[in-house]
Amino acid sequence: MLELELVEISPKKVGIIPCNGEELPEGTLTRFACRKVLDKLKPSNTVTICLPLFIAGGKEEREFAQKFPTITVDGCDKQCSRINTERLSGKPRHSIVITDLLKEHGINAPGSARTLVDMDRQTVDLVAKEIAKKVDQILAE
Ligand code: SF4
Repeated sequence: MLELELVEISPKKVGIIPCNGEELPEGTLTRFACRKVLDKLKPSNTVTICLPLFIAGGKEEREFAQKFPTITVDGCDKQCSRINTERLSGKPRHSIVITDLLKEHGINAPGSARTLVDMDRQTVDLVAKEIAKKVDQILAE
């Protein structure tokens, strides 16, 4: 007799972990770009994890990063998000450092951590697209 198995099909989710840097313009870029990926570019396939809660011992956050692929996004080479994700949960699938990315593209960092001008919004778009590309790579695996 043929047995049918019910298979639960759930869309693959990728955890985006921004560093939440407040003091550097690159930290502001990180937050805005991640928000754009989560809200506009990949809303069905991404979730975010609160880095401070993750570090403070949020059980669900740590379990999520152990079960699902993650992308860390850091404003600078101190790489707070990547280092804490590796320490507390597991190696992220991709790690993006904004200062390196801007250098690669020959783009200057925003002048202020508090306000973004129109030109900076193009930089947010570029960073968001780079994150989205990594999400696509993971989804295609
Ligand atoms: S990675 Fe850099 S910008 Fe981000 S929180 Fe750490 S020191 Fe601040």
